[in-house]
Amino acid sequence: MNLDMHCHIDLYKNHYGVIEQIKKKGLYVLSVTTTPKAYLGTKKLVGDYNKIKTALGFHPELAHLRYDEVDIFDLLLPQVKYVGEIGLDGSAAYKQYANVQLDLFKHIIRKVHSHGGRVMSIHSRLSAQYVINELRNIDGLPVFHWFTGTKDELRDAINLGAWFSVGPAMLKSRSGREILALIPKDRLLTETDGPFGKFNGEILFPWDVDKAIELIANCWEWEIKDTKLKIMDNFKELVRLNNSSGNQMIG
Ligand code: MN
Repeated sequence: MNLDMHCHIDLYKNHYGVIEQIKKKGLYVLSVTTTPKAYLGTKKLVGDYNKIKTALGFHPELAHLRYDEVDIFDLLLPQVKYVGEIGLDGSAAYKQYANVQLDLFKHIIRKVHSHGGRVMSIHSRLSAQYVINELRNIDGLPVFHWFTGTKDELRDAINLGAWFSVGPAMLKSRSGREILALIPKDRLLTETDGPFGKFNGEILFPWDVDKAIELIANCWEWEIKDTKLKIMDNFKELVRLNNSSGNQMIG
């Protein structure tokens, strides 16, 4: 049993084939969407198969292009258990839209807060400190995906009560492995970010979390099987917290 806590099933060319393989392998998957409009169609791909959950997302890179879909987000939020991907992106191409990104992110997390909190898959490229500051006093369970912030930012995110999903693409770099070593074992989950996530030039599929498990086991100096069990235990705990009403941040 393995977990992919952040991938984009609807964006694989052969998404039905991918879903078949996920089922065959018994993987647990969080299928995150990049726009609110994509949510219902993406959820429909998996029917009521319960090991694949669909998250209502609004990617920060699309904030300036799709802002009007915020109404769809608001409409759908009461019926979803998972939100993401959401967040901020401070990279060169998107910095110019910082204000609209921030407006959207604030709106989304306040809605989440007013609806009792949710698991949120969080994008924070070159903006971790801003994301962390906005998440203070917001009810919910943020899971930073592919965290690339500084060690100080990581400490602040940990103090906030955040969780982290890491994948092969992140862990192939030394800085990614340095971050991994500092993440509390109880707050760690695995992901691929496929089909965006790549490893040695190849698109990652949800079952490629195996590669992340290997790298985590290496870092922890644990057996592969114990590492897998720990990640699944963590996931079960996150789901339990998400299902208990009025979930709150730890810090
Ligand atoms: Mn993503």
